[in-house]
Amino acid sequence: MNIDGLRAACKGEVFTAEDERFLDTIHGNLWNRLIPDRAPQAVVKALDEDDVIAAVRFARASGLKVVVRGGGHNWCQPTLRHGGILIDLANFTDIISIDTDNRRAIIQPIVSNRDIQKALNPLGLAFPTGHCPQVKASGYLLGGGMAWNPTVWGSGAESVEAIELVTARGELITASATENAEFFWAARGAGSGFFGIVTKYHLKLHPLPKAMHGSTYYYRLADAPAIGTWLGTLAPGISPAVELTQFIVQAPPELRGQVAAENGWLCMVTATVFEDTPDAAKTALQVLEPSPIPPMSSSFATPLTFEQLFDASGSFWPEGARSRVEATYSDHSPGELVQAILPLLPDAPSATSVFLLTIFCGPDVPAAQKDMAYSVSAKVYGGPWTMWWKAEDDEANTEWHRRITTTLRPYNTGYYIGETNTVEQPTNVPQAFTPEKWERLCALKRKHDPERVFFDYDDGFVDQ
Ligand SMILES: Cc1cc2nc3c(=O)[nH]c(=O)nc-3n(C[C@H](O)[C@H](O)[C@H](O)COP(=O)(O)OP(=O)(O)OC[C@H]3O[C@@H](n4cnc5c(N)ncnc54)[C@H](O)[C@@H]3O)c2cc1C
Repeated sequence: MNIDGLRAACKGEVFTAEDERFLDTIHGNLWNRLIPDRAPQAVVKALDEDDVIAAVRFARASGLKVVVRGGGHNWCQPTLRHGGILIDLANFTDIISIDTDNRRAIIQPIVSNRDIQKALNPLGLAFPTGHCPQVKASGYLLGGGMAWNPTVWGSGAESVEAIELVTARGELITASATENAEFFWAARGAGSGFFGIVTKYHLKLHPLPKAMHGSTYYYRLADAPAIGTWLGTLAPGISPAVELTQFIVQAPPELRGQVAAENGWLCMVTATVFEDTPDAAKTALQVLEPSPIPPMSSSFATPLTFEQLFDASGSFWPEGARSRVEATYSDHSPGELVQAILPLLPDAPSATSVFLLTIFCGPDVPAAQKDMAYSVSAKVYGGPWTMWWKAEDDEANTEWHRRITTTLRPYNTGYYIGETNTVEQPTNVPQAFTPEKWERLCALKRKHDPERVFFDYDDGFVDQ
């Protein structure tokens, strides 16, 4: 590779394995600290669109493949491939404009969920961001985007109106429903198999719900299946404005003593409502109050802000952990899923792990298909987020994670491309799409990246 040629073509820094800062550059901003032994031939820290164009054209001319690093949050590390050029968008951090009157915004991809809401909420606006504070719009929106307030706002991608992207030919284009529509269709759901580099998102914004309230209930672990069954039965009649989640997590400090016999595990249920008046919020949450099993502890309809939601969510996904994730969709009762995994809980090697199921509420669940690559919808979404801290615990946690995911497989109706292991389980990839959408996505990829400039979902994981 003519590295001098690449350096001459790009304003941003270019690194190869010879550079002292190479490993730090390719590993530094990866969320999951379980880092595989794969590395590109060169990294371009693009400064602007021209750098992205130059790097793509250089790769194409040199017969090298391209992979993109957005925020580095994808659990299974698809941004690390053997060889090729890694184009890192870490410098694309601006919120370019917010049009309050027309409820529109344009952002670069590396803006976090927290920073998006922080900029919008004081203006009375919001966007269907993801749940954890640090995750960036970049790959979140490309995967479809499992958002806060999912049954009212829909997925994040449903609120994307246009994208600006660099194609495999190294051309900067805009794509929307009326312009380069095939790119627009694919960019909303293709995730790590998208055949372009998104440099800007044009967002449709929503009014900030004026009354966001949350209830929390803690139950004994043994009661989790019955609670799951109850929630599954209630869900179609619960307001779509309620986001309902059943967790199996470690007890908060005040309850830890009571669940010592369960190694600290208990069942937590959270219900967050996005409404416009406190009365409407309380009415929507009231349905969970007459619980069939008395909770160990509970709180009802506490007023919340996005900041507080991010703090709460962030506390379950701590920074710096080693992780394995395989979230799935299911139309089975949450009670059945929880019952299936309960026997494995006593063997959990790490107390940092979280098991959760989002139970979609309202009469229109599963959601209807939208005109975009993002495909799967079901009554329930979730699975194990297995997290631990030390390399010496990799094997035990990996083995436990495999047991849980194998146990859940018979209940599964599909995967979410943004939170499944597309690297080690490539057969999960087509299962993230309906057969028709998968076929269309593959055809568009062949059409718009005929030379296969971009690494496909399953390329570059075997060293050749
Ligand atoms: C703590 C945590 C919480 C999460 N919570 C949620 C959640 O609530 N909802 C949800 O939907 N997801 C959630 N996710 C998953 C997350 O949205 C996806 O893994 C997503 O891929 C992360 O985006 P990224 O830009 O960091 O991806 P990266 O790891 O940087 O990139 C992954 C792949 O995406 C592609 N890519 C990324 N950016 C671009 C771009 N600009 N142009 C072209 N291709 C690009 C590339 O192919 C790349 O290989 C969470 C992840 C974490 C770690």
